Amino acid sequence: MAKKTVKEVDFTNKRVLMRVDFNVPLKEGKVTDDTRIREALPTIKYILEQQGTSLILMSHLGRPKGTVVPDMSLKPVAGRLKELLGKDVIMAPDCVGDEVTKLAQSMKTGDVMLLENLRFNPGEKKNDPDFAKKLASLADTYVNDAFGTAHRPEASMVGVNQYLPSCAGFLLEKEIKFLGDVVANPEKPFVAIIGGSKVSTKISVLENLLSKVDTLIIGGGMAYTFLKCMGKTIGKSLLEEDFLDTAQKLLDAARAKNVEIILPVDHYAASEFAETAVPELVSDVNIPDGKIGMDIGPKTIEAVKERILKAKTIVWNGPMGVFEFDAFAKGTLEIAKTVAESGAISVVGGGDSVAAVNKFGLSGKISHVSTGGGASLEFLEGKALPGIEALPSK
Ligand code: ADP
Ligand code: MG
Repeated sequence: MAKKTVKEVDFTNKRVLMRVDFNVPLKEGKVTDDTRIREALPTIKYILEQQGTSLILMSHLGRPKGTVVPDMSLKPVAGRLKELLGKDVIMAPDCVGDEVTKLAQSMKTGDVMLLENLRFNPGEKKNDPDFAKKLASLADTYVNDAFGTAHRPEASMVGVNQYLPSCAGFLLEKEIKFLGDVVANPEKPFVAIIGGSKVSTKISVLENLLSKVDTLIIGGGMAYTFLKCMGKTIGKSLLEEDFLDTAQKLLDAARAKNVEIILPVDHYAASEFAETAVPELVSDVNIPDGKIGMDIGPKTIEAVKERILKAKTIVWNGPMGVFEFDAFAKGTLEIAKTVAESGAISVVGGGDSVAAVNKFGLSGKISHVSTGGGASLEFLEGKALPGIEALPSK
């Protein structure tokens, strides 16, 4: 069900507490990738444009495990945010406590304050009601725009909803629209492309999508467990013995549901798993002894392209090969290009898949590139995300 968003709230003269995902990579006290900060800007700017508002931002960074770890301070993030907003950002000395309360109470219209790392406080991860109440006491209303943390039932994501009127920000709204609504109500044909390293990490996604898609394309390292259970030889390719049964059940279920399954029919293989390995074309579905399947081959690429170009909706999670090694990035690149060129509604989720699409410079041509690795995966598994569940519906 659609969640209440910032558009449906009157923020006039309100002090707003907003949960964002500023869990960005840091190196020597500098933000090395500010994507997550920039993703939050539309909601931040919208709130600051409303009459008489001030804004308190809060986030976690890393895993400090409930104690103060100076290297995980959000100070560098405040610095970067200041540059991006072109205005001062007050850095709070903590996330709760007397000093923070005083700072919050003295905020004037247009002021922005960033609280210190929420996970410095043990109450955050425990979804402790007292901690949630203290956070809530800092402001009049709450906005959640932290999609990357939506699968975490933490105080700033869940508990705080109990003590303040709440709603979703633009980023959260967009993620729910694409990962939720599109997947639940896809325009057909609906094609899912699932790859990556392991069957074990993707089995729930495969099972959930199986009842929705017309075609399921399985590539990447996980394809070899499927090929093995079909009686093919896979050489030294990635294999999860414990998941042979699971793979077989999935293939049987696909047949029963009339879902077309596309698996690799040829490969680029290598003699060793290394960046310097020379790609060897294996034109057959069977991989010779001692060789490792590293990428999908040209016949497979063509078969996948054909399905993509007929699709109206595409969901993609997991690279088609070891794209980090340039010699084995071809399959992933060709698929990314085709998805980008297709007129279909396209959604890409998953940390490495998104990294691949960004590396190829194609993210602008995808309808939606999800910002949450773990969160988008759980969404595709059909799970309810606590941070979203806790928000009121429209
Ligand atoms: P995502 O983060 O998009 O969900 P995964 O984490 O499941 O994707 O998988 C990404 C990893 O899968 C990449 O590091 C990639 O190198 C690896 N991978 C893809 N194909 C193969 C293969 N044939 N053999 C081994 N690893 C592979
Ligand atoms: Mg990954």
